[in-house]
Amino acid sequence: MCYHGKTLFFCRKSREMRNGGKFMEKVSDYFGSLVFDDRVMKANLSDRVYKSLKKTIDEGAKLDISVANAVATAMKDWAVAHGATHYTHWFQPLTGITAEKHDSFISPSPDGGVIMEFSGKELIKGEPDASSFPSGGLRATFEARGYTAWDPTSYAFIKGKTLCIPTAFCSYGGEALDKKTPLLRSMEALSKQAVRILKLFGNDSVKCVRTSVGPEQEYFLITKEMYDMRPDLRFTGRTLFGAKSPKGQEMDDHYFGVIKPRVAAYMEELNNELWKLGILAKTEHNEVAPAQHELAPIYTTTNIATDHNQLMMEIMQKVAAKHGLVCLLHEKPFAGVNGSGKHNNWSLTTDAGVNLLSPGETPYENAQFLLFLCAVIKAVDDYQDLLRLSVATAGNDHRLGANEAPPAVVSMFLGDELNAVLEAIESGTPYAGAEKTQMKLGVNVLPKFNRDTTDRNRTSPFAFTGNKFEFRMLGSSNSIACANMMLNSAVAESLKIYADRLEGAEDFENALHEMIRKTIKDHKRIIFNGNGYDDDWIKEATENRGLLNYRTTPDCMPHLLDKKNVDMLTSHRVFSEAELKSRCEIMLDNYCKSVLIEANTMVDMARTQIAPAIEAYTLKIAKTAAAKKALDASLACRYESELVKKLSVLTDRIWEKVEELEKAVASLCEAEDIISQSYEIRDNILSKMSELRASCDEAETLTDKSYWPFPTYGDLLFGVR
Ligand code: ADP
Ligand code: MG
Repeated sequence: MCYHGKTLFFCRKSREMRNGGKFMEKVSDYFGSLVFDDRVMKANLSDRVYKSLKKTIDEGAKLDISVANAVATAMKDWAVAHGATHYTHWFQPLTGITAEKHDSFISPSPDGGVIMEFSGKELIKGEPDASSFPSGGLRATFEARGYTAWDPTSYAFIKGKTLCIPTAFCSYGGEALDKKTPLLRSMEALSKQAVRILKLFGNDSVKCVRTSVGPEQEYFLITKEMYDMRPDLRFTGRTLFGAKSPKGQEMDDHYFGVIKPRVAAYMEELNNELWKLGILAKTEHNEVAPAQHELAPIYTTTNIATDHNQLMMEIMQKVAAKHGLVCLLHEKPFAGVNGSGKHNNWSLTTDAGVNLLSPGETPYENAQFLLFLCAVIKAVDDYQDLLRLSVATAGNDHRLGANEAPPAVVSMFLGDELNAVLEAIESGTPYAGAEKTQMKLGVNVLPKFNRDTTDRNRTSPFAFTGNKFEFRMLGSSNSIACANMMLNSAVAESLKIYADRLEGAEDFENALHEMIRKTIKDHKRIIFNGNGYDDDWIKEATENRGLLNYRTTPDCMPHLLDKKNVDMLTSHRVFSEAELKSRCEIMLDNYCKSVLIEANTMVDMARTQIAPAIEAYTLKIAKTAAAKKALDASLACRYESELVKKLSVLTDRIWEKVEELEKAVASLCEAEDIISQSYEIRDNILSKMSELRASCDEAETLTDKSYWPFPTYGDLLFGVR
């Protein structure tokens, strides 16, 4: 019996033994154990404080300082009981990763000791020295102060020994310096317009509409030993050199394949860590490329999904390190095999839990569904440029338009059934479904869409998948905030136009029908149900349909400041004009810096590792030939002399290309503004980088492997055993 400490220890130990050295608990017992969630709030706050906080969370009501103090104390007590000693305002600056500055809870007590303290003021507002975060000119460095403001809709959590409080990050003038602020604003804008529409359909009880997202995250796992040997992976997250491995993904034997024990152990620990943080990690499988995997959580409200995705990416890397692995989140870590994306599954749900993108049971609900569907169609067509640029990074430029990812042209897939319904509405002809009925909104019931027919197309950038849309252009390392703030804003704009029109209509049903018809007519060019990877489609899209094809970040990013985009985003108060200017500058600056780091890394690797390795091997071959000839002067030594010749030509070419690249990088610094710098990179530097790579990769295929200074593609892609 376990009635005193010693026996208890023994009992626990024997249980550990039974479970292969691990103490096992049920997932439901520890799910969310590191989160200050609703269950914890209910248990630790007085009824008055809890209700008041809930009002703030659910309805955005202002928070009273006495309530904030009570919440702060409860949060601190709970965190300290879980071993926390510090707290941080956790935020997402425009660097793309999360930031935190830790403060301990300690406060001196008169008796020389300390007490643990945390006030409502400290919970609500923080003042990090913001001077080193990118602001794109919004805040001069001497005006370094920015502040963080608590986002009570995303739960606080414990990471290590620190209580993390999700916050928004602004300058003292109130301009957003982060990704969360505009995301929250876009959610509010969308909710406002969607509620107007729902009221028109007689839903008087709706208070708000939320967007939900389930992001499917792709990643690569490689061994830490090999990673450490490659400066390109360490400095840039992707390989800048590497000849093709004899085997790649051509056998399709990795996708959904058996998960190797080492990877399975990683996934198990990762799930546990994510579950403790209340992240609904659900699906995991091997992806198409060797060493590539995917993890998808169950969807949740967009700002929480964004926080969770950032946290997930961080934990994925931390857990990998514990397993002697490295998790690569770059969009294109290896040339020649698939890159990694992040599918953004997105839908709209009322506060009563009704999914507005799900076809309903009654004709009236169907008309409402079609209206929301049309709002998305119109939004995607009108703001193709914003959607494209919301996923633009130097890394994702290598993926979009490569053969495994959606092209850089934005289009939508609806599936045959829904498409037939829309065509019938547009032309006023009978819908050729089972009953061959004339589609009259508000009268006919829509057919039930078979999920299989809506989910078949894997090549579309923006696909309807039965009750949600899947935006597939996001890169694996992107924060999902950017794509969602643009998507939400664009849809808010469509809904606003609809609501303005319908609120003033004399005959609601007629006006509704006409509006849906007009949307289909005006925007059907964006709908494409064929193969998005096909070259013919790009021709058709750009030449006949007039769709945009922004292939690179410098091509699309400046369009953030196009008048129509600025007007739309400022009218919904998602961004101010100054914020947009600063963002455009920061995104282009990130692009330029990322590529320049790559270029410098290439110069360094080629000069100090690759060329010397080829030289050493060439010398060995030359010496072998000389030794052979000394033994027998009649030997031709063709193998040696041809190889020496080939390698010498390649070394010279590498030398030349390194010089050219270095010169191009040096002259870039003279370009006067960031846009011309980015064009110079797009048109000149990137091609010089590929030329240098081509010579080095060719040399790799001719050089004795034992001389090559770092692991090859074959080693990296098939190294985790
Ligand atoms: P797949 O795209 O691989 O077929 P699923 O469609 O099952 O996989 O789900 C992919 C993601 O979509 C998951 O994260 C899931 O939680 C999310 N998802 C499902 N329904 C919705 C919804 N209504 N809104 C947003 N995301 C959703
Ligand atoms: Mg998917």
